[in-house]
Amino acid sequence: MLEVKNLSAAYGQHPSLNDVSINVGSGEIVVILGANGAGKSTLLRAISGICEGKVSGSVTLSGDSLTGLSSDAIVEKGVALVPEGRGIFGDLTVKENLLLGAYPAGARETERENLERVLMQFPKLRERQGQIARTMSGGEQQMVAIGRAIMSAPEILMLDEPSLGLSPLLCKELFQNLTLVKDLGIGVLLVEQNAKQSLAIADRGYLLENTRVTHEDTAARLANDPAVQRAYLGAGSKTSARPSTRSTPLVEVTKSTKPTGNPTPRRSADPQIG
Ligand code: ATP
Repeated sequence: MLEVKNLSAAYGQHPSLNDVSINVGSGEIVVILGANGAGKSTLLRAISGICEGKVSGSVTLSGDSLTGLSSDAIVEKGVALVPEGRGIFGDLTVKENLLLGAYPAGARETERENLERVLMQFPKLRERQGQIARTMSGGEQQMVAIGRAIMSAPEILMLDEPSLGLSPLLCKELFQNLTLVKDLGIGVLLVEQNAKQSLAIADRGYLLENTRVTHEDTAARLANDPAVQRAYLGAGSKTSARPSTRSTPLVEVTKSTKPTGNPTPRRSADPQIG
């Protein structure tokens, strides 16, 4: 379980995240909804150890502290990020991109096994192994980015607005793919503008408004909450740039950390952190 406690971040004098506490269990999809500038990317960057601002608070994975570790060490520990814009290597093939994801020591030892799992879970990537990544469609490239992140054998996969720029059809495929990631037993922390589709696949969600978590609940209850519908599910399925006007206090959430039958991509038992 990823546990984030009282995480704050500031760029200079400008606070971008205030006292944020969230958690993500294995095999659980958790979505963070929020207007533009609410601090969603800052949250993922702070967890990943790549936030340029001053960060305080604590992050643990299965009780193991990630606070203050380098971004590489955080990947080694089991938290991977698919950044906004995907960050794949366009001139390399799909397979080369996937293999680059297995750079943590713990993942290298089980590289072949993990590659096979990724190719089994995403058969399209098997078909396209030799294709130069930049010649793929946006949705396929997103699948490569997700596959590459899974090659690092994460316990938690974080994605920053993965549906950005995708057609409705490719969006649908992307969200289906995220449920396949969940089926691998990986916890998914998703920042999304597409509230409708992300709530449809998520177990739980948090509203991040003006740097703070203002509400958390099961995805089903959030999707049916009139205030959430007004602010995030209004016109079409896109999150509006308007901040929500909800004032409901935090509520306890039902945890749904249901383990799945499929095995998680494996890491060696004793990864070297460095
Ligand atoms: P969006 O949905 O538009 O991507 P967001 O919720 O992800 O927004 P962040 O990107 O986390 O928001 O930004 C939160 C605040 O922090 C914004 O006011 C932004 O201008 C500021 N900010 C983000 N990165 C930096 C940075 N490197 N330097 C200075 N300010 C930053």
